Amino acid sequence: MRPDEIHVIYGTQPLTMVKDLLDQMKAADHIDQGMKIALKPNLVVAKPSREGATTTPAIAEGIIQYLLEHNLRNISIIEGSWVGDQTARAFKICGYDEISRKYQIPLVDLQKDDAQNISVQGQSLKICKKVLETDYLINLPVLKAHCQTLFTCALKNLKGCIPNSEKRRYHSLGLHKPIAYLSKALKTSLNVVDALNGDLTFEEGGNPIQMDRIIAGQDPVLIDTYCASLIGYTKEEIAYISLAEQLGVGMGELARAHVVEYNRDLQNGTAFQPSKKAARLAERVHASDACSACFGGLIHALNRLEENGQLRQLEEPIYIGQGYKNQVLSGLGIGNCTSGCTHYLKGCPPSALDMVHFLETAKSPIK
Ligand code: SF4
Repeated sequence: MRPDEIHVIYGTQPLTMVKDLLDQMKAADHIDQGMKIALKPNLVVAKPSREGATTTPAIAEGIIQYLLEHNLRNISIIEGSWVGDQTARAFKICGYDEISRKYQIPLVDLQKDDAQNISVQGQSLKICKKVLETDYLINLPVLKAHCQTLFTCALKNLKGCIPNSEKRRYHSLGLHKPIAYLSKALKTSLNVVDALNGDLTFEEGGNPIQMDRIIAGQDPVLIDTYCASLIGYTKEEIAYISLAEQLGVGMGELARAHVVEYNRDLQNGTAFQPSKKAARLAERVHASDACSACFGGLIHALNRLEENGQLRQLEEPIYIGQGYKNQVLSGLGIGNCTSGCTHYLKGCPPSALDMVHFLETAKSPIK
């Protein structure tokens, strides 16, 4: 496993997917026996993961099984929910109490932990002590949109590792700068992203978009740059990613990344269950057996176009899905399956960012 690697596995069975992924990455080779390992999910609110806000518990469970199978037993699950909720409630409602009982893994409520002052290049930060005592931090963010920072994933998930008073202070500072400095102070050893069904617009969920994949890598800047592209953003649009890169936290050049994909052939169509907003965004989309990884990306791309006021200018029909393979169609195609369209975007699946660029140039009918 090298820092420039991004590992992506597709599917709908998170427990087996994440174990396969860690096996492929040989993750255990990087962890010494006796190391204090902490899993940091995103349990920002006390809502089950199906609502798009919190980390799917089966991902944490799969990682725990993998670690135990490799005789790595010094494991805890740590989290501090947002100021408006109690971590203990989130542990229970999100399914982590059950995991804790089943595997005898302690749950650490960081809202109740003491904090330590850390200085990072002149910035003073408070970080929960239990996190600082960790030898190997496994960050388990959810890939989703955020109403203030637009996007949240690996870097921003670390905000659960600070006291509530500090969370309030970050908001008064506009979030981006303190998040970037926090990522400089707190090294993640591994980032395993829940990109199964993160929310379309808000960090608290309610509008989950099926994306059916788990993404892993060492470098949180690279992981965030890649994941931002999956919901239609560049790293330059998310200020804290660029700032973290400038601070030397990691490298955010996708062109230099080595992306390894697993189970791509196992993607299947028809699984996508559009929410009300997703259905509205997809009004002009013709989908036939579209893989959810592809269709989910398109929903995010259409949402970006709507935010930019460009969606209404799109005049041509959009086709997506395996049902359009080998068909000649008049309109815009998304993905390799639609190569018979007048214009189509290559990829299987293409990123939402590529879809945004493709649809932006197509918003006036292509001559
Ligand atoms: S291009 Fe076709 S096969 Fe590939 S992800 Fe999209 S719908 Fe699925």
